[in-house]
Amino acid sequence: MNTDHQQQIQKAAQLIGSAKCAVALTGSGISVESGIPPFRGAGGLWEKMDPMEVAHIDSFRRDPARVWELLIRDLKECLDRARPNPAHLALARLEAMGILKGVITQNVDGLHQAAGNRDVIEFHGTFAWQRCMDCQRRLETHRVELDQIPPRCECGGILRPDCVFFGEMIPPEHLHRSRQLSERCDVMLVVGTSAVVQPAAFMPVIAKQCGATVIEINPESTPLTANISDLLVKGPAGQVFTGIMAAMADYTVR
Ligand code: NAD
Ligand code: ZN
Repeated sequence: MNTDHQQQIQKAAQLIGSAKCAVALTGSGISVESGIPPFRGAGGLWEKMDPMEVAHIDSFRRDPARVWELLIRDLKECLDRARPNPAHLALARLEAMGILKGVITQNVDGLHQAAGNRDVIEFHGTFAWQRCMDCQRRLETHRVELDQIPPRCECGGILRPDCVFFGEMIPPEHLHRSRQLSERCDVMLVVGTSAVVQPAAFMPVIAKQCGATVIEINPESTPLTANISDLLVKGPAGQVFTGIMAAMADYTVR
């Protein structure tokens, strides 16, 4: 590991260790080391299809079977197998230590809750449940049989994930709480998000405007890196958090 990287890890550990109210904004990158491909970036679904088109509510309404085949079926298989990685576990540990006051996630994979975080705002809903387009009844995803595509509710209606598709509104209560947390935090951790999907990408801007220190953890730079982030720790989230947690242990012992 080079010295620059080590210094960034140390710096992040110090900032997090002295935070009174840290908040994390996470995107699909945090779950890559759990085996879930992101939309954008290397190995992302974007290379095979255009998620903006496939994961758009208009596409789903037009042809639900196609969206189930192209996107949702694979996602279900992937998510059924995925387990939290060291980045999710570190955020749960930081919450238990009283440092992290909330996670705003764009992910629908439930891995923050599986890791033990209790205060998780699922900005884009959850894949853990499916919802009937006709009667609105909800059914746990692992109970859904895929012998017919699209799967259907008892009433005959088509099932859809309880997620926010492109073209749909973020639940207003999630947006409201996310804004509140962003205004109140003194450190915001922006982990594994390309920061191009709005309004989630605006939360670090709010945090910065309200005086927080913004720390990005991502192998790539993003539109936030130049003007909003105080620090970018480059690398895969699981590896970076392993380093940060080790550095924090040293730092608190001293
Ligand atoms: P994105 O797909 O747009 O971008 C992924 C980001 O993660 C990129 O900036 C990439 O450089 C970074 N990244 C890649 N590997 C990483 C790693 N190991 N550690 C840290 N960062 C890494 O993701 P997005 O900004 O979250 O937005 C797209 C939307 O897609 C979100 O709304 C989300 O709901 C949805 N989505 C969710 C999941 C999931 O639930 N796991 C998976 C795919 C897409
Ligand atoms: Zn129904």
